[in-house]
Amino acid sequence: MDWLGSVERATRPVAEETRAALARRWNELPDHVRTASQTLGRMAVGCEGTHGVFPRCNFTCTPCYHSADANRVRVDGAHTVAEVDRQMAHLAAVRGPHAHAQLIGGEVSLLDPDDHAEALAVMRRYGREPMSFTHGDFDYSYLVRLALGPGGKPRFGRLSFAGHFDTTMRGRRGLRRPTSEVELNPDRQEFCDMFHRLRAEHGVKFFLAHNMTVTPSNVDEIPQVIRDCRSMGFNMLSFQPAAFVGDARRWREDYRSLDADAVWAKIEEGAGAHLPYRVFQIGDERCNRSAFGYYLGERWFSVADDDDPEDLAARDAFLTYLGGIHWGAPRALLMARLARVLAAHPRMAAIAGRWLARRVRQAGGVVAVVRALRRGELVPMTFVMHRFMHAEDVKPAWELLQRGETSDDPRIQETQERLAACFYAMAHPETGEIVPACVQHSVLDPAENAALVELLPLPRRRTVPQPTLAPVTAAAGKGELC
Ligand code: SF4
Repeated sequence: MDWLGSVERATRPVAEETRAALARRWNELPDHVRTASQTLGRMAVGCEGTHGVFPRCNFTCTPCYHSADANRVRVDGAHTVAEVDRQMAHLAAVRGPHAHAQLIGGEVSLLDPDDHAEALAVMRRYGREPMSFTHGDFDYSYLVRLALGPGGKPRFGRLSFAGHFDTTMRGRRGLRRPTSEVELNPDRQEFCDMFHRLRAEHGVKFFLAHNMTVTPSNVDEIPQVIRDCRSMGFNMLSFQPAAFVGDARRWREDYRSLDADAVWAKIEEGAGAHLPYRVFQIGDERCNRSAFGYYLGERWFSVADDDDPEDLAARDAFLTYLGGIHWGAPRALLMARLARVLAAHPRMAAIAGRWLARRVRQAGGVVAVVRALRRGELVPMTFVMHRFMHAEDVKPAWELLQRGETSDDPRIQETQERLAACFYAMAHPETGEIVPACVQHSVLDPAENAALVELLPLPRRRTVPQPTLAPVTAAAGKGELC
């Protein structure tokens, strides 16, 4: 009868380790975020990211969240894979068997494609759903070498990438200094087209997010970026108001002047809809706002409306009965688990049915929905705003948190509250810590990158004795190099 026990365990809607990790996360959360809409500790433990695995980048963005030393560290595939392994092992041990994790650092496409693929495979081995972060300035041949293994067989059924495109970036081939967001549209489209082509030619599915750093200079361009990007192939449009963090030489504007509500209003203007970010909250809403929904043709619809009591009741049932489900499980297993939830809570069927009927009614009826589906006009789209914090606030806030003290200064107190409710974590197996990404970039990155400069120095440039050049030749050579 052992097999019966195995089947029972495998089809349990939520694994015991997951349940324990969720409970731990919920208990750690400060009271102000333990709301009915909170997903941390109920649906997931939060998102994870790597650090110190490939700090170097070949762009010069303003701002850049990496410390001044990052570009003096050599990209080294063996180091990347070993570090990713250590960090993921720690995250899996502390935060349970499943999470979304970002392969992030400098520029991921500077990794050899085989090393990049190996890092993704390691992340999957630890139950992480990886997403690679890139400036997107690479060729289709790189993507193919990443996606296909020896013999041309796909290494993965699906790849997830976040492409960073905005006017704060310097160094894109053919567009080194964009002056408006619209100039970047051909690069955005080209990036998405590579993945469409990969799917058509090799059957590898994809999920693409678009990241835009928001500054006082480009905030007014958000609506147009959204209108331009919504049917390119992205399924998430994410906006990061800039913060004073990372390399101080790259700070250009008054980032403190960016108001969260004003930025969100711009995002709503681009979406052409109210974006109800309080239906599902991820951590502290001063850090993160997310609105989950879909485009049906030109119109964006939320998966649930914040002024509809029936939708909110459906949300509550979803979090209560389906929280912690591993949606990335093999389909048969997922179906078996959902069937057990339904058997234990049959009212879920009626709740789901009424929810679906409301969505169809909103979209103009069954005929309109079927027509949109046939034409491929139903595009899932999540809007996100993630507001990193300024290093000068994070440093004292983190020190106090570690001592178990609370600041009297309202600004530092807010920073402490947000750090305690953080949804984006990075692992330090050497100390046993898991820290918010804000702490990583504001407090830990400088020393970490300084150590990596020693460990992985850039190759020394060979100096070859030069013949003395006539003045005119020297001037021409300098111009060519620069
Ligand atoms: S604490 Fe920092 S990294 Fe964590 S969710 Fe808030 S802004 Fe993001």
